[in-house]
Amino acid sequence: MRKLVGIVLAAGLASAACAQPAPNSPPRTGTPRLIIAISVDQFSADLFDTYRGQFTGGLARVASGTVFHNGYQAHAATETCPGHSTILTGSSPAHSGIIANNWIDQSVVRPNKSIYCAEDERLAPPNPAAAQGSAGSYAPSPVHLRVQTLGDIMKSRSPQSLNVAVAGKDRAAIMMGGRNVDQRWFWDGKQFVTDRPSRVPATIAQANAAIARTIAAPRPALTPTPFCTARAAPIALTPTMTVGNGNFARAAGDTRAFRASPELDGATLAIAASLIQELGLGADNAPDILSVGLSATDYVGHSYGPGGQEMCLQMLSIDRDLGDFFRLLDSRNVDYAVVLTSDHGSLDIPERLRARGVQAARADANLATAGLGRAIGEKLQIAGPVLLGDFAGDVYYDRALTGAQRQQVEQIALNYYRSHPQVEAVFTSRQLRNMRFPTASPDRWTIAQRVRASFDPQRSGDLYVALKQYVMPIPVPSTGYAATHGSVWDYDRRVPIVFWRPGTRGSTHNEAVSTTSILPTLEAILGLRGVPKVDGPCLAMVPNVACPAR
Ligand code: ZN
Repeated sequence: MRKLVGIVLAAGLASAACAQPAPNSPPRTGTPRLIIAISVDQFSADLFDTYRGQFTGGLARVASGTVFHNGYQAHAATETCPGHSTILTGSSPAHSGIIANNWIDQSVVRPNKSIYCAEDERLAPPNPAAAQGSAGSYAPSPVHLRVQTLGDIMKSRSPQSLNVAVAGKDRAAIMMGGRNVDQRWFWDGKQFVTDRPSRVPATIAQANAAIARTIAAPRPALTPTPFCTARAAPIALTPTMTVGNGNFARAAGDTRAFRASPELDGATLAIAASLIQELGLGADNAPDILSVGLSATDYVGHSYGPGGQEMCLQMLSIDRDLGDFFRLLDSRNVDYAVVLTSDHGSLDIPERLRARGVQAARADANLATAGLGRAIGEKLQIAGPVLLGDFAGDVYYDRALTGAQRQQVEQIALNYYRSHPQVEAVFTSRQLRNMRFPTASPDRWTIAQRVRASFDPQRSGDLYVALKQYVMPIPVPSTGYAATHGSVWDYDRRVPIVFWRPGTRGSTHNEAVSTTSILPTLEAILGLRGVPKVDGPCLAMVPNVACPAR
């Protein structure tokens, strides 16, 4: 909280930050002037349910609204880019085109055939010397997103509407903002930067300077509450790596530790508050939209797993910082409505799950696509990679293979995966191409239907490999990467979906709903008519939502 407020003060919002607004914002009616769409990265429904009773700040506020705690990122490839692409487009990855964080395109000229979801590979990278995948090594862009976001739609209806996105990751800001954004800012590892360099707001430089001063100073450990201390059991993952009892103490200048801590979300909210102030979001009759990607929970989850003291501290920090953020809006009398959700859930580290009686395991390193491709190539005496891909999920055949070689490779790969004890199922692109898109409630989708919702005939692999439940696709943990997500299972698919506006009556719903329902519901809240049908239905259970008749 102090960090956030300090940054906001530095950004020239002293009077607003110091105001003491009434604890409850006044009830609002009519069309809200500002939609705030918040994605908390890797905020599983399990985390939401676990911590809901501990929240007293911003997360308590939104949880007093309309809560769907069985929300679903319904598709198979539960990664950040696909997840964020569903939230404000109403479209599953099969229709948004964002099938994964990275996919293979063997037609690109460059040696590296992996395409990052939020890059334009046709453009020269800003810094070609940067390490692959790091900031500067690619040109950030929404070019691969095949559908409109809510901000795109609002601006096409009302050009005065502003579409602004801020996030700890470029892919979150790009997938939630879309193509027609007025301002988009994201953390590049050192500062908040934009892919739209024209018209840089003055407060951005001030906020970046304040964040730099924060990072330059060491950070003392956070003080855990008893609820968090109860989760502080240390687990040694390697001889040099212990997780479970961390407290976010940070050395001066350590930007990686800054990122994997509550500080990143505080900084993101400070930038968001600065932009609300300087751009006057919500100040006129044309409704605006602000997308906020709070990415730190994901970095904390990857570094430590979601089951220890670290995540507890992160949950309580985000609750407090969001509380500050909403109070700031109240003090400025902004008429806003909030939707809060997540891009995917997560699986805890197998070492902690096993201590709790769950039969979890780390994946067999032999499942890595490159290694399997090499083994098949040696067996068949084929030069080249044979298979391209990462670790399960989408697997591609080297396009240099002849038709006969492809058949041989496919048969060996299918046999390998189908006989592997950690593989649940493997699907060919032919199977997926012939499947209809699922329309049932997302909690009842088969594994094949989940994979179908992630399938794009141009971008998806020749095979899709789904690992068994509780298999962590990280064979050996490393610093910052002990746990992950991305599976077809509900721990990665289930996320909270929460709508809140000051003064609305709260309710909690158990039925399964998809994140693709967020867009049509927000359209109804904004009174937008004649909008194209998307994958999810409008949620009529949200108060003051008049869903259009279909
Ligand atoms: Zn994510």
